[in-house]
Parts: sequence; structure tokens; C-alpha cells
Amino acid sequence: MSRLNRRTLLTGAALLPVVSAVAGGARPAMADGHGMAPGQGTTPGAALYTAPLGSFRITALLDGMAPLGRGFFFGGAEVDQVLAAAGIGPDAVPAPVSAFLIQSADRTILIDAGMGQQETLGPGFGRLTAGLAAAGVAPEDVDMVVVTHAHPDHVGGLIRDGAPVFANAELAIGEVEAAFWTDAAIMAQAPAEAQPTFQFAQTVLAAYGDRITRIVDGAEAAPGLTMMLSPGHTPGHCVVRIDGGDRQLLMIADTLHSADVHTALPDVGFGFDSDPAQAAASRRRIFDMVAADKMLVAGSHIHFPGFGRILAEGPAYRYRPATWM
Ligand SMILES: [Zn+2]
Repeated sequence: MSRLNRRTLLTGAALLPVVSAVAGGARPAMADGHGMAPGQGTTPGAALYTAPLGSFRITALLDGMAPLGRGFFFGGAEVDQVLAAAGIGPDAVPAPVSAFLIQSADRTILIDAGMGQQETLGPGFGRLTAGLAAAGVAPEDVDMVVVTHAHPDHVGGLIRDGAPVFANAELAIGEVEAAFWTDAAIMAQAPAEAQPTFQFAQTVLAAYGDRITRIVDGAEAAPGLTMMLSPGHTPGHCVVRIDGGDRQLLMIADTLHSADVHTALPDVGFGFDSDPAQAAASRRRIFDMVAADKMLVAGSHIHFPGFGRILAEGPAYRYRPATWM
């Protein structure tokens, strides 16, 4: 629990110049027709994609794009080869930051909430709000937010100017994750560059106060939504199994950070993993499960909209975008 990897707990401060340098040029045109230069105050437009999932409707919501520096992936020539074969890089690996809206007849649930106003991965985030509006969902309609882990690109959109964005939402978070970020002793041992991440997680959790439910491994956050501990990216990182009846989907969150690199090279560590070896073990376990069970996956950082399948291929895996919609 208290194993903290220095290099991973960088909150972006040291890596920001790399990210920011690329962020402007790589941002896609906005859905509302406004092109947006870096730092320009244009309201970002909606980017969303809705698909049926049994008794649910699932909508992928793009919050923004983070062109990650190549250096985030701890591998050598084999990583460069995968990126070249995918037509990516070498300067940046594009990583969407997505959240997912799960709707049923009586529930409106968000899984993660994007970066919001946070700029630790560069400017241009916060499109989730427009995406929700385009889906016909007002913030006060959301009755639960399920948090896979408390990094700023997943919880940043939960607050705006320090106040909760989702006034009527219960906040469900894995008990290990909530305990980790709110443990004063762990925070005291963490390196200086990790302190803002701890502080921000605590600010977000405090904003939701007594509306937080800590979910144990394998328990449902809501009917049909099961949280499963998948540690390594953070100590309490969770994936969420969505039981749509005839279709099962696993929201794998940050099990991978590049669908190209991490399926071909599942053991490659990633810059924000708290424990890269544990993250790799969790990655293989999750990939084996979804491949064997032929489950659909959705990922926070998979090419938008981020729905697909992961197939076993020799000693590694292959990602195939879903075409079921
Ligand atoms: Zn993430």
C-alpha cells in the first residue's frame, strides 16, 4: 500500500513542458465548429458516442486529448516499433481522456468525470459538460458518479471552482482507493511532487462529503455495475463490470494507456503507475479475462469512443475496435 514509486507520482509538473508543447497542434476540431488555439477561451464543444448495452445505454464522452510524451512509456526500441507500425509518434502518443455515461430506465450514472478545469495534462479539457448536455443530461440529473481512481483526469470534472458539479450525485469509489488518498501517513511519506495529487483528491472527496460510498472489491456500486480492484496504476484502481444482460462490458479505466502499446507489450510500465509491475500483472489478468469471456471493453484512454475487444495473440494481445453499434 505504501509502496510509492517516485517517478510515477509526478503530478505532471515535471512533464508538463513535453505535454503542453504538443497539446495545441494535436487537438481535434471542436464539434461545435470552433477551432481552438491553445489557451484560447472558447467553450469546448461536445464529443460523444452512444450505444445500447442490453438494458443500459452507454455514452462515451470525450473530455479532451492528452498527447503524452513518448517518455511516459518505459520501454526501448520495441515501443518505438509498435508506435511506428501504428503510425503514431515519435513525439507524442495521443491519449483521449474519456468518461462514460450509463443510463437505464431509472438511473443516470457517470463513470469518472474527466479533467474539468485541471490543466496538469495541458489545456483544452472540460468538454464532458458539453457532452452531457448534448446527451440531454443536466449535471443535477446525475444520481451517481463511479470513480475508478482518484487521478485528476478522472476526478477533476467532479468539481468546478471548488464546488461539486453534480449536486445530487452519490460518489462511489473503491474503499482501497479512498483510503489511500486520504491517509495522512501515506501522504506524509509521498514525494513532494505527489503532494498536489493527494491534495486535489482530498479536495474532491471533501466536496462530496457524506455522499461518498466506499465500495469493497467485487461489490456493486449500483445494480448491474460491479467494481473490481485492479491495482498498480494506483493502489486502489478499479475496473467496472457493466451487466447489460445479453452484453457484458468491462470499463477498464487505466488498465492501459495506449491500446497499441499496452496490448502488444503488456509489461511496459507507464509514467503515472504507482507500481508498474503490479499494474502489468493487473493488465494481463484483466486482458486474459476479457479475452476468455469475449467481453466488450471501454477504456478511459483508448482511441475515442473507446469501445472494443482485446484478443489474445501469442504471448501478448491485440485491440480491435468494437463494431457492434
Ligand atoms: Zn487516466
